[in-house]
Amino acid sequence: MNVLNENVLVLNKFFSPISVTTVKDAIIKLFTEKAEVVTVEDGRYATYNFTSWIELSELRQMFDDVKEDDDFINSVRCSIIAPRVIKVNNYDKVNIKSVRLSRKNVLLRDQYRCQYCNEEFPAKELNIDHVVPKSRGGKTIWENVVASCYDCNNKKGNKTPNEAGMKLKREAFKPKFIPAYKFTPSKRYDSWSAFIDQAYWNVELED
Ligand SMILES: [Zn+2]
Repeated sequence: MNVLNENVLVLNKFFSPISVTTVKDAIIKLFTEKAEVVTVEDGRYATYNFTSWIELSELRQMFDDVKEDDDFINSVRCSIIAPRVIKVNNYDKVNIKSVRLSRKNVLLRDQYRCQYCNEEFPAKELNIDHVVPKSRGGKTIWENVVASCYDCNNKKGNKTPNEAGMKLKREAFKPKFIPAYKFTPSKRYDSWSAFIDQAYWNVELED
């Protein structure tokens, strides 16, 4: 894959994950001073602006201190390490509040588990179930949609969980942050783990 299209974790100013973007977008944000690169070195957070990140990139190359997951973006004038994590400087509260209600985000929130039988499935074997069916006035809102496997979905049909004698593993809730803690484990994203763990524990669960 082109380095510019790879994923970058986006943190707010409190170091909480809020979204995922591309390296290309991250570099633009960095260049326009809308974001800083965040790294974890010896258990400490370090932040870099565009200039200091270029300096670091050059130093690493110069001293042959290239890390295993470093990808370099080479241009005529400089060569810069692809950031893995950035922190945006002005991310207002309105944005933090609204996690987009999408099929993908519901699956992420529910950790790819059917909320009725609690089994884990690949994305394509899950659908989005309206807890109170649409035909019964159920709305398409975070609090009324859950991941559900086809078997459970068929069994539930047009009923409420009560009527179908089924119980939700966990009440549907609106996540505070993008629930991005399910991604293909890869060495490349080791640098995300410090922040993803934090997001995991910060997410509001309402049992
Ligand atoms: Zn199921």
